[in-house]
Amino acid sequence: MAKKKIRRFDILTIFPETVTPYVQASILGRAQEAGLIEVKTHDLRVWSTDKHHKVDDTPYGGGPGMVMKVEPFERAVRELKGGGVRGEGRGRREEVRGKTRVILTSASGETFTQKDAKRLEKYDHLIFLCGRYEGVDHRVEEYVADEAFSIGEYVLTGGELPAMVMIDAIARLVPGVIEKDSLARESHSKKGYREHPQYTKPAVYSPGASGRGKTIAQWEIPDVLLSGDHKKIEEWRNKHSVTK
Ligand code: SAM
Repeated sequence: MAKKKIRRFDILTIFPETVTPYVQASILGRAQEAGLIEVKTHDLRVWSTDKHHKVDDTPYGGGPGMVMKVEPFERAVRELKGGGVRGEGRGRREEVRGKTRVILTSASGETFTQKDAKRLEKYDHLIFLCGRYEGVDHRVEEYVADEAFSIGEYVLTGGELPAMVMIDAIARLVPGVIEKDSLARESHSKKGYREHPQYTKPAVYSPGASGRGKTIAQWEIPDVLLSGDHKKIEEWRNKHSVTK
């Protein structure tokens, strides 16, 4: 029998504790238990050759703050790709995992979209590099990473949230992680597409009705959704989906 393909996600960070609980919970956690994906968080300091495990230094040309060094990222990626390292010499060989793509998180990168999530889902192995401080030595983007992504036009304190955002968006597209039907017509499944509004029980909600307060309003759902007429429901959904 053919061996089941597991999508592997590696996250390189100096704050692994900020990432691990999220990737172990809910859908990502269940997908790992089911053997569909594997998410591993690594402490970047492990790959520093500095005796104090230093991973940053002052910027060339002067200026505020610290810049993350190229060396730990390069060594870590080489090892995770199966090319030796850890203490060098004969090094340590991780199992080679097929098609790999290395993604740098960067406030100045291209904006990550659903189209990128679909494209990256096809890789067997994705390695995410998380910056901190003033950012990362540009040689990481030039020589180590395959692409650099921003998750939006704002600056965060680190690349951990962007890495989790991208992993979440990619992992839910891996076959078996989420019901296929849920993915078919959701927002961004086509460029500019926004899904119709969704409602659940109760059909009429009265705010304040469960407490002592007087009911002042009734929030109702559109009648058509209670009609049982699938054609009309479909028409309503089409009408209330938007392509911008
Ligand atoms: N000095 C950098 C600049 O002006 O572009 C910002 C550095 S930021 C404080 C530190 C790290 O957080 C970055 O290296 C990157 O890894 C991450 N980061 C911050 N904002 C991000 C965003 N919008 N998208 C992706 N990564 C981001």
